[in-house]
Amino acid sequence: MPYVNEQDIEKIIQQVLKNVEKKVQESENRETISTNKTTNTPPSSIRQENQGIFKQVEMAIEAAYEAQHILMNRFKQDDRQRFIEAIRRDVLDNLEELAQLIYEETKIGRYEDKLSKVYLAATKTPGVEDLTTEAISGDCGLTIEECAPYGVIGAVTPVTNPAETIINNSISMIAAGNSVVFNVHPSSKICSRYVVNLINQAIIKAEGPKNLVTMIENPTIETVQTLAKHTKVNLLVGTGGPKLVKALLSMGKKAIGAGAGNPPVIVDRTADVALAATGIIKGASFDNNILCIAEKEVFVEEAIYDDFIYHMLQNGAYMLNQKELEKVMELTLVADEKLGAKSCSCTAYDYHIRKEWVGQDATKILSGIGVNQTNTPLLICEVDVDHPYVQLEQMMPVLPIVKCRDIQEAINYAIESEHDNKHTASIYSTNLVNMTQFAKRINTTIFVKNAPTLAGVGFGGEGSATFTIAGPTGEGITSAKTYTRVRRCVLAEGGFRIV
Ligand code: NAD
Repeated sequence: MPYVNEQDIEKIIQQVLKNVEKKVQESENRETISTNKTTNTPPSSIRQENQGIFKQVEMAIEAAYEAQHILMNRFKQDDRQRFIEAIRRDVLDNLEELAQLIYEETKIGRYEDKLSKVYLAATKTPGVEDLTTEAISGDCGLTIEECAPYGVIGAVTPVTNPAETIINNSISMIAAGNSVVFNVHPSSKICSRYVVNLINQAIIKAEGPKNLVTMIENPTIETVQTLAKHTKVNLLVGTGGPKLVKALLSMGKKAIGAGAGNPPVIVDRTADVALAATGIIKGASFDNNILCIAEKEVFVEEAIYDDFIYHMLQNGAYMLNQKELEKVMELTLVADEKLGAKSCSCTAYDYHIRKEWVGQDATKILSGIGVNQTNTPLLICEVDVDHPYVQLEQMMPVLPIVKCRDIQEAINYAIESEHDNKHTASIYSTNLVNMTQFAKRINTTIFVKNAPTLAGVGFGGEGSATFTIAGPTGEGITSAKTYTRVRRCVLAEGGFRIV
């Protein structure tokens, strides 16, 4: 038997320890990868707690139901305001991390603009101050009409403003005394989970109940159905496209629908064209045009058309020539033969946008057609009113511009292109008659004059912010009061009998 000295033994021990360490490291790595795969957890830099996140829809509803009862029975309105202040503070403390997470997960829009949107939701969504009580007093006594909560609200959110809508809805709904269960867009569940957890943590730190805001961990269209039909869910709120709004409105209970828009802008012959150009570029390129309120098509009076285009180009817009426009259309549009158009001599098409191009940078679209232009926020093109880029809610930084004979033609085209969404419209003009006429005829929820449409949600304009603009069901700019029922309390004859 060979002789083994102390040094050899030391070497063997070191080698064994190294092997064990390697094995442990390998198994830890395997575990991290498999956890990330199955549960879609956020990166390690993000906090890992799961306050308010539930696998089952029913569990999310039960937890929110219990939380709402605790909120109403143990806490006052002042407490609710304290919870809301805590939510605002914690969102702002985590602003950059949240904006980055939204951007990385959804892969649409622009990081800088996510910062602005999250900031807007946290700071300009009204709290309990939005709730007002009406009082009527007279010989017959005193009657008051006050804001009462619905209870549990089921809310569905879009991929275009995922965490922003959760922050905005949560503040409004909790201020009104409700709890909320979110069914978020599946492509935004990581950032949604992060913000739902953050809101719950903020409320708990402010000594409030847990689960005032809950979320279904893996949301689907089926979970929307279960949520919407559940007897403990008293109000439905849907922010998204037409299919969602239609689905919620058919559930047989009160629903608030915030649907699609396709906002037209008119620039008339009396407008300050330089102001119009800078305002339109700012609004239409913000977050790469994914906002429902963003300027989506422009109607310009012939008399100032060339001047307007000159200012658009001076301010950084890139004009697509006919060939480039065709290439961009080929890149971003899918054309399906229109149903029922077969007997026509010309073939008609229904277009829709290729999903992968929604919310992408203008420069990326240009490089997709082989043009290397590194520094433009917005592509523009000259088209007719029936062009698909005018008629579709395309949500890309590609802005179609239509030349119009006069203001009447511009208004007619704008109304036609808005498709009665009753959402948003704007005009650049100094003519009061033109402004009033357009506002009355298009009758949208938001109507902005001489500024980007962003001003309509409190971004550079007066008034509060909302990320749920309820055009189809008529509530308009939603806030805490929207999420309340009217309760009448009557003290007849002053509460006693005159003898
Ligand atoms: P989307 O309609 O595809 O999805 C919105 C939400 O609804 C998602 O959570 C999705 O999972 C769910 N959903 C979709 N179809 C459904 C169905 N048939 N039944 C049940 N749930 C369904 O919209 P998106 O791409 O997430 O967001 C962009 C759209 O939302 C645009 O049309 C935009 O104008 C609109 N939007 C409106 C407002 C507003 O305040 N009015 C705000 C933001 C976005």
